[in-house]
Amino acid sequence: MTIADDMRTIVRAALFGDPALDSLGVVGNDAASLVWSITPGVPPNRIGGSDYTGGVPFSRELLVELVGRTMRHRAAGGAPTDEDLDRLREIHPACQSVCECNAGWSDLLHSTFAWIEETGDLVWRTEQIKEKWAGLRLYFSGDPGVLGRQIIDAAEHVSMHICETCGAPGRVRHRGGWWLTSCDQHAPID
Ligand SMILES: [Zn+2]
Repeated sequence: MTIADDMRTIVRAALFGDPALDSLGVVGNDAASLVWSITPGVPPNRIGGSDYTGGVPFSRELLVELVGRTMRHRAAGGAPTDEDLDRLREIHPACQSVCECNAGWSDLLHSTFAWIEETGDLVWRTEQIKEKWAGLRLYFSGDPGVLGRQIIDAAEHVSMHICETCGAPGRVRHRGGWWLTSCDQHAPID
């Protein structure tokens, strides 16, 4: 699987049910060459196995951008480790929480914080970062801005299509009373 293949897999899963998915274009072999495009707009209320009865709180191009940034960061680094999670608090001023999730989401979290930092001088901080019902939850205080809130909402949505252990494309699985998001390799054994 190339970086472009992985990105396509994650976006197709996260936007499953969106007719505009046909317009997705992803090319590139590495972090430097990866580029993407999709017809802009807000997707329909049911996408990627989630139901947003009040309307999806982010645009599809924002979601694609977040996945692209995440895949670039993943390709530039090695296999994610717990140290990568710990380092988020050193790199990103708004990250004030010990991550209560596994390292596979570290690239997603890094890209989320980095993008929000680019949007302006904001006063906000995390209160808790954790996994709940197989998805990322990022609770915060202060104001990360309108775009920042959309990026956080998109990160929580996308997390349910990224393996929490390794960062590869994944899906939600249910085993023995637990829900988790994993790739085939890290799927729990019955
Ligand atoms: Zn995995």
